[in-house]
Parts: sequence; C-alpha cells; structure tokens
Amino acid sequence: MASPHPAPAVEAVLESSPDAILVITEDGTIRFVNAATERMFGYSRDELLGQDHRMLLAEGFRSGQQRIFFALRKDADAGPVTTDAMAAPAFPPVEAYGVRRDGTEFQGEVACSLLAEDNADAPISMAVAVRDTSHRLAADAGLREAMSLLSATLESTADGILVVGGDGRIAGVNNQFVSMWGIPRELLSAQNDDAVLGFVVDQLADPAQFMEKVTALYADPTAESHDVLDFRDGRTFERYSRPQKVADRVVGRVWSFRDVTPARIAQERITRAMTDLAEQAAQLKALAFQDPLTGLSNRQLFNDHLAAALRGPCGTAVDVLLLDLDDFKEVNDILGHHAGDQMLIEVGRRLRECVRPNDVVARLGGDEFVVLLVGSLDPEAVAERTVDSLRVPLWIEGTMLRPSLSLGLASIHEDAVDASELLRRADVAMYAAKTAGKNRYLRFRPEMMKSLVERTELEAGLRVAVDAGQIAVHYQPIVSSRLGVVVKVEALARWVRDGETVPPEQFIPAAERSGLIVEIGTEVLLKGCTELKPWLAEDSSRALAVNVSGVQLQHGDFAELVQAVARSAGVDPRQLVLEVTESVFFDDDCHVIQQLTALRTAGVRVALDDFGTGYSSLGRLQGLPVDTLKIDQSFTSMIRTGEENLPILSCMIAMAHGLGLTVTAEGVETPAQAEYLINLDCDSLQGFLFSGAEAQPALASAIDRSANAFAALRGDRVAGHR
Ligand code: C2E
Ligand code: CA
Ligand code: CA
Repeated sequence: MASPHPAPAVEAVLESSPDAILVITEDGTIRFVNAATERMFGYSRDELLGQDHRMLLAEGFRSGQQRIFFALRKDADAGPVTTDAMAAPAFPPVEAYGVRRDGTEFQGEVACSLLAEDNADAPISMAVAVRDTSHRLAADAGLREAMSLLSATLESTADGILVVGGDGRIAGVNNQFVSMWGIPRELLSAQNDDAVLGFVVDQLADPAQFMEKVTALYADPTAESHDVLDFRDGRTFERYSRPQKVADRVVGRVWSFRDVTPARIAQERITRAMTDLAEQAAQLKALAFQDPLTGLSNRQLFNDHLAAALRGPCGTAVDVLLLDLDDFKEVNDILGHHAGDQMLIEVGRRLRECVRPNDVVARLGGDEFVVLLVGSLDPEAVAERTVDSLRVPLWIEGTMLRPSLSLGLASIHEDAVDASELLRRADVAMYAAKTAGKNRYLRFRPEMMKSLVERTELEAGLRVAVDAGQIAVHYQPIVSSRLGVVVKVEALARWVRDGETVPPEQFIPAAERSGLIVEIGTEVLLKGCTELKPWLAEDSSRALAVNVSGVQLQHGDFAELVQAVARSAGVDPRQLVLEVTESVFFDDDCHVIQQLTALRTAGVRVALDDFGTGYSSLGRLQGLPVDTLKIDQSFTSMIRTGEENLPILSCMIAMAHGLGLTVTAEGVETPAQAEYLINLDCDSLQGFLFSGAEAQPALASAIDRSANAFAALRGDRVAGHR
C-alpha cells in the first residue's frame, strides 16, 4: 500500500484538495485523512486516525465497505496489478450520507479505489474520496422523493422483485422477494449470489428448465420473458423478466415474481366445479333416457334412435328385435320381485353382449326388451344369438334358473314402413314365437297377421260358444294303483267349432285372456257334477277332478261358487278335486290360499297340476293347502324302457309322500311307464294306456277299459314272477 505519509508534493495536493480524502484498511480502520476531511466532518486528524471509518457514515450506509473491498479485489485479481494509478481498480462513485461530529448529516458522493501494493505483506487499503454534495440537495430533493416513492412502491407491491446488475450480481431485492422465496437474510448479506440462486432453484419442481431460461435470457440482455414456475411444495409463481435500461443502455435485468397460488387454486376449483356440473348434467340427461334397473336405454331413447334410423340413407338395413321373457311372471311370483329384478338385470347384460357396442338395446318395461340394428348384415344371426344367450343357466340368489325368451324380428326392406308399423310387426312375430312354443325367434311374415286376426276371431267365436252352451266336457279315467280300478275322473273342456275340435291349448289361453275362463270353468264344474252324479253316488270314494285356472281364483266368491254348484247338483264336496297349477299360490294376494283352505275345510281336495314344470320345486310344497301332486307328463315320458334310473321321479314321489300327499302320474302311455311308477309307489295313474278323455256316454266303457288295461299289467307281472 502507499505509505500513509505521502511525499511532500503529493501531500500538498492532498491537503489542498476540496474533497475529503481518507485511506481505509480492509478492517475499516482510518489510516490517513487530509485537511478537507477535518473540515468536512468536524473532527481533528488525531481524533480520526486509527478509528473505525463507520463513525463518519450515517446509519444505513455503514455496511458498504466490505462489499466494495470485495468487488475491488476481485477486479484486481482479474488483471495484473500495476502501479499505474489510472489502472488501479476503482469503484464507481456512490451516494452516501456522512455524519459530522455534531451529529448533523450531509449528503456526499463517495469514490473508492484500491491502493496498489509495494509490499505484499502490507494490509490492503483503499483510498476514499468524499465530496460534499449538499449544494445539490435542493435539486436532489425531488429525486430523493421520487426514489423514496419508488422504494415505497417496490416494498408495498405484492410482487417479489430482484434486480441483477450488468455484472450478473444481485443489485437489489425488495422485502417481498425475500419472504416469497424464504431467503435467509444471512445469505443475502453474505453477498453470495450463487448461494442465493441455488436456494431459489432448489425450490422449483423443474430446476433445469428454469436454468435454461435464465441462461437464454442472459445471452440476450434485451429480451423480455414471462412464464410460470411450479414449486415442489405446490406453489405457483408467475415470473416476468425484463431488461433494466438507463436511456437506451441495458444495465441489468429486473425479475419480478408474483405468487399466483391462491388464484391458481381458485381457478382449479372453478374448473373442477364446472367439470362436476357438466358431469352431473350428462348424468341427468342419461337418466332421462335410461332404464334405471338395467341401465339400458329406455323406450323414449329407443324411439328416438328408431326414428333417426328410419330417416337415414335409403337402403340401410333397419331391424327391430322385440323380445319377451317366457313365463317371467312365475319367477316374480315364486321367487319374489328382487329375484325378478336380478334376472332382468342379467338378461339385459347378456343382450348387450349379443350386439355391437353401437346397437341400441332398450327395456320397454316389464320383461319386454327391444334391440335396434342399423346396417346389420345378418339380423337372423343376432336373433339366434340372443335366444341362445339364455341357454347358460342363471344363478339368482342361490337358485339356478333357465329362463327363455321369445323374439320377433321385423325389418324394413323395399316397402316403406314407419316406426310404429315396424314395432307392430315385431310384436306379431314375437307373439307367433310364443304360440309356436316359446324359446325361439321368428321373423315377421304377412301370414302372421292372419293368425292374429284368427286369434281375435277365436275369442269372438268362443264367446258365442260359451253363450250358446257349446262347451262340452269329456272325462279321463284315473286308475288307483292299489285297487286297479278307476276311482277318479278328470273333467276336460271340449270345444267343437264348425265340426272341428279346437284343442284346449288354444282356447283355454284365449279364455284366460278374455276372462271367459270363469264362465267355462263354472260350466265344466256344473256339467261334470250333473253328468257324473250317478257314478259318484255309487261309491263315496269316487271323485271328480276339475281344472281351475288362476283367473277363477282371483274372484273372491270362488269358494262359495264351488260349494253352491256341488250343492245344486247334489254332489258331496268331498268327491270334488280342484286341480290348480303351482303359480296360483304365489300371487301377491293371499286370498287364493284362504279360498282353497276354506274349500278343503268343506271337504274339497286340491291337486297340484303339472308339477315339475316351470319354476316349482319340492321345497316350496310344504305348507300349501294341497292333497295330491300331479306329476307332469314330461316326467313320465322320461321312462322309456323301464330299466333306467330316474332319481328325480323316485325323489318326487317319496318327498310328496313324506309331506302326506298322494301322487298321480300323468301321461302314462306304456306298460313300462305304468310298471315303473307302480314300483315307485305312485298312488294313481292317468293316461292313454288306460283311456283318453271321453264324453259321458262313452265313459262307462272307458272306465272298464282302464281297469282291464291295469289288470293286463298285473297279469304281465304275475307272468313275469312265474
Ligand atoms: P291337463 O290339466 O294337464 O290335462 C291333461 C291333458 O293331458 C289333457 O289334454 C289330456 O287329454 C292329456 N293327456 C291325458 N293322458 C295323456 C297321455 O297319455 N298322453 C298325452 N300326450 N296326453 C295325455 P287336454 O284335454 O288337451 O287339455 C290340455 C290342457 O288344457 C289341460 O292340461 C288343462 O291345463 C287345460 N284344460 C282342459 N280343460 C280345462 C278346463 O276345464 N279348465 C281349465 N282351466 N283348463 C283346462
Ligand atoms: Ca289337469
Ligand atoms: Ca296336467
């Protein structure tokens, strides 16, 4: 360093300088002052030498010295140190406030330069020149005010601001910047810009991307940029960066950061709410067009799609598959509505699997479904698949069910057909499928319309026949296995129309549909009692069985009616058997049970007809007001050679006996069947082997024929034993 005692010529210059000139070592100690220093600060030279220079600086300006030293030394290290004063590292003049001995403050300009070293061991010093600029005060007052306004503005803004000088060093920050980034004060005052940058970058979700941007901006000092920074902790800042200019010269870069996390969260909330709303609206809309049980389309949506398909390009195939479950009512009645619902859901699911994703499958209500195919190449294949889809049994609440469906297929071809006509055709075809024996599909044919007309005519004809008393009754003998004689006959309705016998399978359902069955049933009972009274009177163990449809039992006075008819005909109620099918017991109204119970109290017996068909099961028999089980002929027909093992038959008979019921087997046509059933201890046998149904005049010989046929069996058996 230059000696604190300069050469006389130099000293004269220094002493005459109007600026205060001081030499300060790195630790801040004053080593030299000139006369102007004494004048300016009001201290004597002795009072200043060896003191800390900060005593001369107003509060707020006392910390700059180390930074200046640091900067000067860095510059000095960068280039060769020369003794040339012009080349000595210098710090540009800065504004500062000095304090006089009397405590008054004044404004001055401070310029610093590093003193060149002669001796490497000497402490590093710098020369400081202070110029009193109080005279500029008036002019600066405005500037100071503007500055304070500016700094107040900077401090009050919500944005964090960082100014980086042209040299890349931090030139200033506002408090908001420090708190937004959570930068420790020590880090800032240590002037370690790299540490500050590291601290900042570490908080970002994607530091590399940020650094890339920073690098790009420094490569182009005039560039302005703006982006969004995502933090690891979930916050979001908006970042702006623009050059700091003095006149047209870029002197640094201003970075401002705005915490937009609350705004972002609010925006996200709004977006989420909007999405939820849109979803809900879509759901509501879907619900309006959806069958709530199966989730399939509803009738309305189906109609819309069908209408759209029919408006579509000419020549596009449009097919409607209308289908209905067979005997669904029984499932509902016997297993309950919950099971019925499960079945509908499963059927809906299987239907969907039979078609392409875009085909419409709708539930029209109840157990009726419809499929719309547009542009299908092979609707028959789809119809077949659909019928087949129920081949695999369904498990519902632990019960295995084998439902089936009947399907009608109608298509538009050359002839223009409107939607309602197309649906009507599918309906007619579906009806034809049911009539043809269910569990199948049929394509609409114009002849089907004819059978529809015939059906209507059948009902009208039946009405006339009932009114005219044209319904006749035939009797089929039922043979007792124990006695080998006919102890019972079953009354079966007969209708001869224009010389032709109409099968009961045709007119009984028609009568049930139209309600005529009530009159027919009463007529059969009355005729039966009247015609058979003499035969019944001969032996009190003989009985007359009549079929009773569920529709008849719906009438509350049925029990009284039966008794009144028996009374009027003079037949003992104990000689009457009413044959009902199992489904009558599962209607919601329990007065069916009450009626049958009342009848049984009066001595009338009840037989369960067609047992084993439909969804009935032995487990449900217990507790029903029933005396006899009639095993359906489909079971009897399983006996072919008589050698087979049929546990289902033996089981049925044994169980019925266990429940105290007698058993009648229907449809016995061969001696082998009769033998088999007798061996299983079946109580009574009915079938063509003995006799078909005959009108009353032919009944006596039919009864004899039956006994003979039974005796022939016995003869065979006796012969067989021998
Ligand atoms: P169902 O009550 O099961 O009557 C037995 C049916 O089986 C009768 O048919 C009878 O002729 C027939 N059958 C008797 N033995 C044999 C046999 O060995 N082999 C075969 N293959 N069939 C045999 P039908 O008279 O044609 O009656 C059919 C159904 O119509 C009856 O079945 C019954 O459900 C109903 N039905 C008949 N008359 C009446 C009635 O007055 N009222 C009600 N509600 N239904 C009736
Ligand atoms: Ca019957
Ligand atoms: Ca039967």
